[in-house]
Amino acid sequence: MAKKPPRKDKPTDRGSPKAPGTPNTNEQTPRSRTGRDTRSWEPEIKASSEGPAGRPDTKPAESADGTKLPGASQPTGGGKMPAKAPDSKPAASPAGDRARARAAAPGRPASPADSAAAKPGPMASKPTPPKAEASAAEKDAPTAAGKPPATPMPAVPARPAETATAPAATAAGTPKAPTPEEHPEPAAKGATGESTGAQPAIAPPPGQPTPVRPPAAEIEVEQLEPPPAVETAATEEPPPVVRHLPSIYIVHITPEMAPVAKVGGLADVVFGLTRELAIRGNHVEIIMPKYDNMRYDHIWGLTPAYNDLWVPWYEGAIHCSVYFGFVHERKCFFIEPHSQDNFFNRGSIYGFNDDVLRYAFFARAAVEFLWKAGKHPDIIHCHDWQTALVPVYLYEIYQHLGMTHPRVCLTIHNFKHQGVTGGELLRATGLHHPERFFDYHRLRDTHNAHALNILKGGIVYSNFVATVSPRYAFETKDQGQGFGLEPTLHTHHMKYGGVVNGIDYDVWNPEVDTHTPAHYSVDTIEGKYDNKRALRHRLMLADNEKPIVAFIGRLDPQKGLDLVRHAIFYSLERGAQFVLLGSSPDQGINADFWGLKRMLNDSPDCHLEIGFDEDLAHLIYAGADMMLVPSRFEPCGLTQLIAMRYGTIPVVRSVGGLADTVFDKDHSHRALHERNGYVFENYDQTGLESALGRAIACYFNHPEHFRELMKNAMRYDYSWNIPGQDYLNIYHYTRNR
Ligand code: ADP
Repeated sequence: MAKKPPRKDKPTDRGSPKAPGTPNTNEQTPRSRTGRDTRSWEPEIKASSEGPAGRPDTKPAESADGTKLPGASQPTGGGKMPAKAPDSKPAASPAGDRARARAAAPGRPASPADSAAAKPGPMASKPTPPKAEASAAEKDAPTAAGKPPATPMPAVPARPAETATAPAATAAGTPKAPTPEEHPEPAAKGATGESTGAQPAIAPPPGQPTPVRPPAAEIEVEQLEPPPAVETAATEEPPPVVRHLPSIYIVHITPEMAPVAKVGGLADVVFGLTRELAIRGNHVEIIMPKYDNMRYDHIWGLTPAYNDLWVPWYEGAIHCSVYFGFVHERKCFFIEPHSQDNFFNRGSIYGFNDDVLRYAFFARAAVEFLWKAGKHPDIIHCHDWQTALVPVYLYEIYQHLGMTHPRVCLTIHNFKHQGVTGGELLRATGLHHPERFFDYHRLRDTHNAHALNILKGGIVYSNFVATVSPRYAFETKDQGQGFGLEPTLHTHHMKYGGVVNGIDYDVWNPEVDTHTPAHYSVDTIEGKYDNKRALRHRLMLADNEKPIVAFIGRLDPQKGLDLVRHAIFYSLERGAQFVLLGSSPDQGINADFWGLKRMLNDSPDCHLEIGFDEDLAHLIYAGADMMLVPSRFEPCGLTQLIAMRYGTIPVVRSVGGLADTVFDKDHSHRALHERNGYVFENYDQTGLESALGRAIACYFNHPEHFRELMKNAMRYDYSWNIPGQDYLNIYHYTRNR
């Protein structure tokens, strides 16, 4: 075999990522009225709890009432090959596509899948597994009552969130409102549920429709009489059952959104979810900081929208401008503060000593903007600790000004980061009365009586708290992975649940992906091998019969970096190739991987790319055979979902969202055609080898089985179709309480 040429100057080597930008000290904006330099303020107090590393690998994991968690207890060791999965038409994806097409029309009729997802309880659905086969008669025949045929997706079994962590449907299936002690109700709804009705004080920029408040009529999930049975041609769909959900006005307040400001999966979630909500006929807006390092090339028609926003801060106020622009059709407001604090002009998004104050300010500015602009959304959806003060401000300040309408949903994408800080926060934000906020049942940190915990405040004050998978909801509440917030989650368990993230099927689609040379689908899967060749060519890997094992992700200890390192050598030893794409803001970690890269530079079977490269990521998803995700903990994980979309087999640790979405080929309790990857339990080298070894062996020894597994993975529907409906259910649930 030809030795790989030295690759010191390989075109794909983009060098290590930039160090976090240093604060821009060039003062271009007027000083704040306070004239106060908040950066000199005390540093953030770190939460003292450790990560879940070394969690005893107890199995099986069970909820309090003994409900077994999916994928939680996989026996290890060799297993029998599954029988060939029936090569039926991919059921889930077309169903998802049809639902999407119907969803494009406001007031669309709900698909059977939607109806299933919309059953009582906000956490009603889970990723849709592919259906093995349905007879033509089953598929086409309307029921006697003229209802749609049996859904092409199989019935959704109960899942842990419904038993262990979900916002609890009662026996009758109706969500039960928590008691006031469990949930100090923020922002009490007006007597009629109506807003003040004030019109937006800002003129919409050209091309933007005037924001219209949706009617505040009582929500009724109406089940209309199905139309009389009509003789239809066999190919036509029967008339669906019509279900009316009124459109609602939703504002997402977020520190990140792809592609303009992306650090991790949160950015992708906001991008995908907001689009899904909009195509379902809702009015959706996004508020985020106006960072200097945003991808402005992805913002269309950026226009000043509100020039005179004064945001209270310390004893004074900071002047802000608000801009409006479209990000791939999403309506976005960008807040730009003018102060010497220079909050968002620092060359990178996070990583500063005053991050807590930066985002406490942003959250206050976002609410102040809504208030001053006369916007009264039905739902404010916040993300992570950076915006978790929004419900606190609403309840403690703005409801007294008359802003009683919005309900708040907080999604926690990662419990590791909580915004733990000192009492200075209260002085800056105008949340006076320290005795009130240092109360254990409000913002006081669980571990440090002298610290405030912003994320905890978000949990206490929000109307609903979601995290990004049911399994992670369970782990954070009951398995000690809440980084100290377990007691708070227990107190508020009635409004806590998990929704598995989706991925954007417009961005991640092997049939039309503009980043890859060959396009393919589940029916033309051979096209994937052209991408494999292209990937090898780009990374100067040897072209041979070996499988390619890949890792894409932040180089963060959370991602299981020691196992990634082990997997590189193990893969090479087992006759596979290995590709890594990742970077870290921690220069020490980057240096380690640069060292590894230099060590392996001459290998014709290995390439490590240290950096962030969206284009290369697409090619790896499309060209690799296996995607490794050996995380210590993983709230949801997008890489395994994207990999499956591209027929790349995930090899994952059974934790968090990975356990909810990947089902082991040999040891799952799922039907054979629903198995889509390889899973291991123990966070150690033996665990990793048990899964990766089986994957590589299957690739070499049973290629036809491996191919079936690829097809199974591709048939899953991990789009935003189902989680979009889940979030809508949550919104309606919170509005009706
Ligand atoms: P997290 O949010 O913890 O970073 P996720 O799996 O939820 O992890 O999301 C990671 C997202 O970022 C995926 O879309 C992945 O493809 C992308 N990504 C991570 N690292 C890189 C990189 N170095 N280059 C390109 N894309 C990356």
